[in-house]
Parts: sequence; C-alpha cells; structure tokens
Amino acid sequence: MAASRIVIENCAIATVDADDTEYASGYVVVADNRIEAVGAGTAPAHLENVVRRIDGTGHLLTPGLVNTHHHFYQWITRGLATDHNLFNWLVALYPTWARIDASMAKAAAQGSLAMMARGGVTTAMDHHYVYPRGSGDLSGAIIGAARDMGVRFTLARGSMDRGEKDGGLPPDFAVETLDGALAATAETVDQHHDASFDSMTQVAVAPCSPFSVSTELMKQGAELARAKGVRLHTHGSETVEEEKFCHELFGMGPTDYFESTGWLGEDVWMAHCVHMNDSDIAAFARTKTGVAHCPSSNARLAAGIARVPDMLKSGVPVGLGVDGTASNESGELHTELRNALLINRLGAHREAALNARQALRLGTFGGAQVLGRAEQIGSIEAGKLADFVLWKVDGIGHSSIADPVTALVFGAAAPVTASFVNGQQIVEHNRLLTADEDAIARVARDEAQRLARIAAAD
Ligand SMILES: [Zn+2]
Repeated sequence: MAASRIVIENCAIATVDADDTEYASGYVVVADNRIEAVGAGTAPAHLENVVRRIDGTGHLLTPGLVNTHHHFYQWITRGLATDHNLFNWLVALYPTWARIDASMAKAAAQGSLAMMARGGVTTAMDHHYVYPRGSGDLSGAIIGAARDMGVRFTLARGSMDRGEKDGGLPPDFAVETLDGALAATAETVDQHHDASFDSMTQVAVAPCSPFSVSTELMKQGAELARAKGVRLHTHGSETVEEEKFCHELFGMGPTDYFESTGWLGEDVWMAHCVHMNDSDIAAFARTKTGVAHCPSSNARLAAGIARVPDMLKSGVPVGLGVDGTASNESGELHTELRNALLINRLGAHREAALNARQALRLGTFGGAQVLGRAEQIGSIEAGKLADFVLWKVDGIGHSSIADPVTALVFGAAAPVTASFVNGQQIVEHNRLLTADEDAIARVARDEAQRLARIAAAD
C-alpha cells in the first residue's frame, strides 16, 4: 500500500542534525511514521497520496523534546517539603510514597505525561522505583498510560533494597528484597521491552541510587541489563551528602563506586551528576556514560550546578530531565531548555556556558543519545521517525524576537500548535488530542487526596 503523506510547509526548521542545519523557511514530508524529506522552500511538487497539508507560517519546527529523567508517581505528591535539601526531602516523603497503588500510579502517570506532551515532549521516560508489597501492577499501569497517550516511552524499572536497617535512607517497609527486585525487573523487560527501530515502549534496568540500593543489586542489576540487551539508569553524584555517604560506606566517591559495580558504559545514563571532578568527567567521557541534566530539580533541592559545558567539551552525552514533580512542580521540559542555559551561566563558564542551539540540542538529540535512540529520533532527518513539534513564534510572547531558536529558548514557554509522535498528531493548540485533560486533572486531585489520607492514617 502506498505511504500516506503529510506535508508541513512555510515554517522555520531547526533540524538539530550533525551540522545544526536550519531553514528560515522550509518543508518536511512525513510518510507514514517516518520523515521522508526535509529542505528549504516549498515541498517537491507531484507528491502522491498527500492526505494533509499544514501551513506552518509563523512557526518553528523542531524535533520533539526527549525527557531523560522523571518520576511520574510524584505528580500526586507535589508542593510538599518545599524548603528541604535532597536527603531531608526524601525522608519527609518516603512514608507517603510507600503507600501508592496501581490506581494512583496510573493517575500520576497520566498527569505527568499530559503535562509534558502538551509542552512538546514526544519521548518520555519514567524512573519508577517504589513498589510497595501488594500494590498491584504498577509498571503495567504506567506503560498503559503512555501507550494510551501516544507518547514514545522508556520505563526505567527502578528498585530499592537498602532500607534503614542496612544503612540506607528509605524506611525498611518501602524496599524490595534483592531477589524480588531482580526477578520483577527481568519480568518487566521480558513483558514490555520492544527493541525495534519503531519501538514505542522500551524498558531499562534502574536501581534507584547508592544510598537506597545494595552493592549486590547494583552489580546484579548491571549483569541483568547486559544479559537482556537493555539500558541501565540510576541517580548519581546529586549532592554533597551523597558524596559523603559514598566515602563513608564504600571508601570512594560515587563515580568510582559506579565503575566498581559495572555502572559506567555507553549503555548507562545517570541522572544529575552535579558533583563531578575532572577525573569523574573524564571517566564518563572515556566510557561514553550519559547524563540526564535536571537543572530545575537541582535548583529546587539546592543540589548545585552540574558542569554541563565541561561534560559536552569532553564528549559526554547529555540530555535534559524534568526529574520528579515533587522536586520540579512545573513538570514541563520546554522550560528546562531555558533553565539549563540560565543556570549553567551561573557556573564557571559564565556567558559562554551554553547557547540557545546547544540548549535545544540537549533537549532533543542529546536526550535521544542518552536513551540509546539517536539513530531513530532526536533530529529532523530523512529516514528517522516522525516525532516533531510546531512551536508558534509569531504571537505576543515571541513575535519581536527575530531568531526563532532564540525565541524558543530565551523567550516565554512557546505555544505548541501541533506535536506529532510516530507520524500521529497528539497535540493541537496546546490541547491533547489523545486524552481528556480535565478528567486527568480531576482524577489526579482525587488520588492525591486519597494518598494523603492513607499516609496521614499511618
Ligand atoms: Zn530523580
């Protein structure tokens, strides 16, 4: 059967390809779920089977945004412990988190996904690591929510097995056993991971952090991921307290600890990486270990400023992350482009730290790299999957800024006129086409209140 084509014309295009090719006015041709052509001017004449033409006048077309770190469940525990650092914040929230069930996880996933999708995210990820006993099929609920919304998705199946009695931070009732966590992770990979080029659902192995996971789970988790051919994800070098914890418990810093447990490599990406010295960055560069940079969360929890310019200069793959919405209540990724740029300018490199195009690259191609999907998504190139966004840049927020990429990154959050995933439109004029936002908001509020009631009764 002939491919169905969609033509988008008359828009500025930032392809984010290897040469950062841009067109002041160009076109994109989509054939089924792939990008067939991109170029300057108007689309080639005499294309067959064009089912839709979109006039992109006044818009910037970019690759869809790729989120590389999140915890969906936190959507129903936002706005709590608002003046805490990481460890105090975790200790305050663990008892509530340990009471979630599958219905809450679904509502929170829908809220998180909706907020990101309507802001231009086309590939989402969820690092979920709270699996209370008897809480139902949380992974299935989360994956189902992403599938229903039409967003491309990686579930990082997390785990914790180092409770307080073993020197860890989480309460003992919130953790799994080593064997239980490994078996459930393996089952999730077998059940849901799709390794194909067009894959909409992937699974990664993702023990939570050095201070909530045993050394054995780190090691066996890495072996499991490599035996299954899936990626590895965890938190690393987020705070000075974590660094101190690692020195006290393991006699080495976080990066050396990760290396000793098999957790550096091109199949690994790590959230935060704020407290990295030169040799840590060199180790990440040498092993091609990726980083999920979460500037708003790092600021919210007063963790510090990750050395993103140094990482990029050394060749470390870097993407952007929202992080959980209990530490970044906005839950939006497009605003992280701006925050990454601004926060890094407060670091050592000052105004030379990042520019608008580098920020856009972090949020698109950089994210695709750290999720292991750079051949399929993250840039507008013929043969890649049709994941892209049309940002309106001729409205009141942006029309007086001549350069559209500068408008997108430095300006107010740009309206999303259309967002496509896998050739399917999921957002029109900032509204989801694949879900009822008002219903999601209502259910999220009800589930947040139910969780708060259960936690208060403990
Ligand atoms: Zn996190």
